[in-house]
Amino acid sequence: MTRKLAAGNWKMNGTRAALSELQTLADAHPAPSVDILICPPATLILRAADLLAGTSLRIGAQDCHADASGAHTGDISAPMLADAGATAVILGHSERREDHGETSEMVRAKARAAHAAGLTAIICVGESLAEREARNTLDIIGGQLAASIPDGCTAANTVIAYEPIWAIGTGKVPTTAQIDEVHDFIRARMIRRFGQTEGGAIPLLYGGSVKAGNAAEIFATDNVDGALVGGASLTAADFSPIIAALEGSA
Ligand code: PEP
Repeated sequence: MTRKLAAGNWKMNGTRAALSELQTLADAHPAPSVDILICPPATLILRAADLLAGTSLRIGAQDCHADASGAHTGDISAPMLADAGATAVILGHSERREDHGETSEMVRAKARAAHAAGLTAIICVGESLAEREARNTLDIIGGQLAASIPDGCTAANTVIAYEPIWAIGTGKVPTTAQIDEVHDFIRARMIRRFGQTEGGAIPLLYGGSVKAGNAAEIFATDNVDGALVGGASLTAADFSPIIAALEGSA
């Protein structure tokens, strides 16, 4: 059975004062039936992982370098993230693809590094509005999957997040039919590449303007195993009902 995951991406938000939100969230979900992961900015990973040791919450990162160490000023490697207490890393988020010119080939190299360091790679794919309107969504997603995902992915070390770029932080959400079409497509590609046992169980997240008010409907969609949540993961008050909706989605 595919495990379910509620993942929060804090992006470039949060200082030490925000750690109290994590404690509140952990207190509200002492024994959740789904996995809960928060990816704060890198400056908070060590403190957050220490704070949450022994709780149900796990801590992840938002990016890593493809190399394990070396002359890469300002970058952080996957082994460093694991050493700080991260268990997962988001890779290929559209904001990194746009802001930092990350290509799918770079994302694949980072995913290999994440796996080698024992981290779960949460690999993001998604189309722009222009690509959707040109009816190219599945071609774009198929190309991103083929180029961004390394060999050797398993249900334990990989998560795929479908994040239509036009839905991120905009309040616009695809219809459940649109989500269903893309998630079924991703599931078929994962099974074709990694086989039924692993490809059939790699968790598939939807991301893009998920809120308490739309979470249950999204989680009822076939092949949606959870969500990658930006804005609504910043406070326990906003994220907790999304976790509860996922727990209720059996
Ligand atoms: C994201 O950045 O991964 C995201 C889904 O953001 P939001 O939930 O704010 O749309």
